[in-house]
Amino acid sequence: MVNSDERCLLGCGNIELFFFYHHPASLSKAMGLNHHVRGSQMSQSDSVDEDVQAFLPDQDQLHTYDDLTKVNPVTPTTVLKCLQARYRMKVFYTHAGCTLVALNPFQSIPDLYSLDVMKEYHCAPQPQEFKPHIFIVAEKAYRNVRSQLEPVDQSLVVSGESGAGKTWTSRCLMKYYATVAASSSVLKSQNTVKRIERRVLDSNSLMEPFGNACTLRNHNSSRFGKYIQLQLDRCQLLVGASVQTYLLEKTRVSCQPANERNFHIFYQVTHQASTCSNISYIFYCLTEDCFQDTVEAMDHLGINAEKQQQIFRILAGILHLGNLGFSSSVDESQPCNLDEKAKAAELLCVSAEDLQTCLRVQTLRAGKQNMLKPCSQAQCIVRRDCLAKLIYAQLFEWLVIFINKSICADKFSWCNFIGVLDVYGFECFHINNLEQLCINYANEKLQQHFVAHYLKAQQDYVSEGLEWSFIKYQDNQSCLDLIEGSPLSVFSLLNEESRLNRDSDARALKVRLEKELCGNANISWHKFSQVPHFTVAHYAGKVSYQLEGMVEKNKDPVPPELISLLQKSDNQLLQQMFSQHQTENSTKGLSKVTVVSKFKNSLESLMKILHATTPHYTRCIKPNPECKPLMFKKQEVVVQLEACGIVEAIHISAAGFPVRISFKSFVQCYGLITKYSKSGSVRVGKYSLLKRFTIISVVLQEHFSEPSTALVHCGNTKVFLTQILLE
Ligand code: ADP
Ligand code: MG
Repeated sequence: MVNSDERCLLGCGNIELFFFYHHPASLSKAMGLNHHVRGSQMSQSDSVDEDVQAFLPDQDQLHTYDDLTKVNPVTPTTVLKCLQARYRMKVFYTHAGCTLVALNPFQSIPDLYSLDVMKEYHCAPQPQEFKPHIFIVAEKAYRNVRSQLEPVDQSLVVSGESGAGKTWTSRCLMKYYATVAASSSVLKSQNTVKRIERRVLDSNSLMEPFGNACTLRNHNSSRFGKYIQLQLDRCQLLVGASVQTYLLEKTRVSCQPANERNFHIFYQVTHQASTCSNISYIFYCLTEDCFQDTVEAMDHLGINAEKQQQIFRILAGILHLGNLGFSSSVDESQPCNLDEKAKAAELLCVSAEDLQTCLRVQTLRAGKQNMLKPCSQAQCIVRRDCLAKLIYAQLFEWLVIFINKSICADKFSWCNFIGVLDVYGFECFHINNLEQLCINYANEKLQQHFVAHYLKAQQDYVSEGLEWSFIKYQDNQSCLDLIEGSPLSVFSLLNEESRLNRDSDARALKVRLEKELCGNANISWHKFSQVPHFTVAHYAGKVSYQLEGMVEKNKDPVPPELISLLQKSDNQLLQQMFSQHQTENSTKGLSKVTVVSKFKNSLESLMKILHATTPHYTRCIKPNPECKPLMFKKQEVVVQLEACGIVEAIHISAAGFPVRISFKSFVQCYGLITKYSKSGSVRVGKYSLLKRFTIISVVLQEHFSEPSTALVHCGNTKVFLTQILLE
């Protein structure tokens, strides 16, 4: 997310939390329940080093707090102390009400994720009684699918900054389901096409080398977002999966930030080439076996040897394109680097002459006529990079489509899914551009979902007749309005500028943004900055975006000559990849789809799916920026805790009822149907309030050993439960 010298941009916000939950005395009495109000006023300006002795006398016992809602009071300081104590004791998971906090150990912990541990959590009647673990979240979602509560589809949302452990966690979740939901049937496979559980895991192993890279924050940083839906049949067995990816950082192909690397696959391929041909390459590969793993994953997924060869040739072709130089002369007959040109052309299976022409000459349309114009050296470089990015992005897309064909079950054989979302965390660098704007916009959307699910539950309490004093929380709607709203927003103005066929002027755009958007309190400008920019106050802090180059990135223009070149390639795969490209463009006509409009649409479909599922949140925390084992830097952690609004969520969870079930489902769920409804159908209106209390009391008596400590509340149409009650 951020490095230390950029932290100054992250305002801590000024959120006031006042929380008092009032149980109507009469109802509590009727239920025989005692509700303790935990916590007190909290201000985020609490100093991290504040002495918490007064609040937490049991310093030696801090590590035993499995659930942060039990910490009293809940403040960033107390939560931090507790997590630190647990980290010191090598306890990496902690509940925070309905959210799981996962601290990255930065070392492998023997047996934490073993098969035996998976079985233990899966087979336990009450897994939540075990130590907090990602497997509790996994198992809860798995059991939810089976229960009668609607909606049954589940989403596991894993968030956190770069290097916090999102991808690791997603992998753990997938391994868990591939194990506990594996069909016991014998291998249906023929030769290389392996059984579905294996293939689902292989899909991950294949996307990682193509979509991950070594960055300053994480040596295996995912440069794309993904949502994997694990498809379950009626018997809850894993029968397939589908994957949706978001915004691959394709600029990395041609240009990497200082001290960062290109996508892993390039090092794997060059390493392989160097070992085969005894050439020493300066490139480094993570481990020598990586390439073999990638090939194995391809084999399992059904990418045959011929296709693999085509893929590797394309990758090598891209690398040679990168070495292509251009003379400064505008005379198009000047050759560029001959050797590299020939190699690139050979590997991409295109004519060397055509390659040179399409990089050095542009076709301009003047009315109905085409005019040829030689490109300047700078333009040639832009075209070369554009070609490399275009091929790589299209190859990645092809892989994802192939993977989906290989792992997706046919639509009649699955009925529910568990989705795992692993998207890039909030980013704030020294220089931020369109990529960061999109990533941070996605994080705003997810934060809104988080807020809506946990914090707006309060509205439910009120409409259900419970007395509730609202906990104030940061509503990020106005920030989203600023970014994506209509008619005027950053996106709409950016799109408008992108659709105009003119060279964009960053300064003019800044003036336009200033004029049109100054009414929104979330946008500002540094008074003395010479660089055209705008600053957005995100929920996680302020980020300044530079406007230079933003419109161009949004247009993402692809010279048509490049597409025609690739369509003529003798590499079958390239041909296939770009034949679709043409149809896509022609069906969409002239209205160019911009990067932000495409991203907004894909994110909106994701949000629709998320809204229709029961979400489970895991917040990954990176305890230190150096990625060192067992080092806990309080300042780093507190910024992450504040950025994700975890403290507010703990407050709500501690005070409220995270589980809300319709009265009908509640009765059905606990098998009281026969006792209270002969016909089998339950209508809420049928029962007087008193009778409903009686039913709930019976449930408590029958199902839970300590009903007096369990919190349950009866609303107008719903029963509200604490987490513990349901399980
Ligand atoms: P993110 O996806 O959030 O950017 P990753 O999941 O790639 O971060 O994690 C970064 C690194 O941290 C991993 O490569 C791994 O070395 C380490 N890591 C993360 N979670 C764990 C864990 N639970 N146990 C051991 N190491 C972990
Ligand atoms: Mg990742």
